[in-house]
Amino acid sequence: MTATASLVKPILQVQELKKYFPIRTGVLSRVSGHVKAVDGVSFDIRPGETFALVGESGCGKSTTGRTILRLTGANGGTVYYNGEDVLAATGDRMRHLRKAMQIVFQDPYSALNPRMTVGSAISEILHVHGIASGNQARDRVEELLVRCGLEAYHSWRYPHEFSGGQRQRVVIARALALDPQFIVADEPISALDVSIQSQIINLLEELQDAYQLTYLFISHDLSVVRHMADRVGVMYLGKLVEVADKKEFYRKPLHPYSQALLSAIPVSDPSIKKKRIILQGDVPSPANPPPGCPFHTRCPYVMDVCRNVVPELKTNPAGHQAACHLVNPVS
Ligand code: SF4
Repeated sequence: MTATASLVKPILQVQELKKYFPIRTGVLSRVSGHVKAVDGVSFDIRPGETFALVGESGCGKSTTGRTILRLTGANGGTVYYNGEDVLAATGDRMRHLRKAMQIVFQDPYSALNPRMTVGSAISEILHVHGIASGNQARDRVEELLVRCGLEAYHSWRYPHEFSGGQRQRVVIARALALDPQFIVADEPISALDVSIQSQIINLLEELQDAYQLTYLFISHDLSVVRHMADRVGVMYLGKLVEVADKKEFYRKPLHPYSQALLSAIPVSDPSIKKKRIILQGDVPSPANPPPGCPFHTRCPYVMDVCRNVVPELKTNPAGHQAACHLVNPVS
């Protein structure tokens, strides 16, 4: 992180965000426990930045994105967007935030109504938010589709008439309809053919430049993140375990979990020898996380202290954060 970058006021501030899902058992569906999908996550995103959240499936990265947008309720913490309290907003303020903060989902097919032409689906959003209707809305829809690499006549088509890549372009056009500043891109290419993934990544980058968009980019693919992100946050079992500037993260990951994830990225040059770190065991259940460091059941460097004391996410002078007793010894 450069000194200038650290002085820029964040557009999004997430503090101690929590999302717990109740576990219900028995005939009376009594709550017998909670799945701690997001457990005290804090980070900032600066305007125009791409902040990537990475981690294995089930680590809580998608739930974090959805909780920030209030697509699911939070159990604790705060989210501020441009200084406005997102989790407490109501009425007109919430409508304003809904316009400014959008999402692109992983599966473009289930994100679209199969019974509506894409033109009707996007026009409806413009109409509901009082932005445009009639011919004005139609013109705006066509402009958005063309901006996203489709043709104006595609507005008359139904979702099943598109390829996967085209459908994701429609979903992106829909997300842009309300002129948002901030977009959660939740695994936006993982359901797509490898051959078209790069086209969608290029489109997201072009749109970011054209509209000064800020992205929360959620992905399990560290090669794509390396291309796309400015900063990276690594999640494990509902917690952030490392946050760093992209270059710093790929050059010298501090957390043993990040080191294992990065060691699994294939290299294109066969002359480069790379030691793969194979993690033993499965990810523990977020319904019953282990005490101490959440990673201690799989960490190759586990120490006694790791089994009892939760490591704090601490920041080094270079602005690199890690939650590990090896990096930040308990004094
Ligand atoms: Fe491994 Fe201990 Fe660091 Fe956790 S705190 S990552 S168990 S060394």
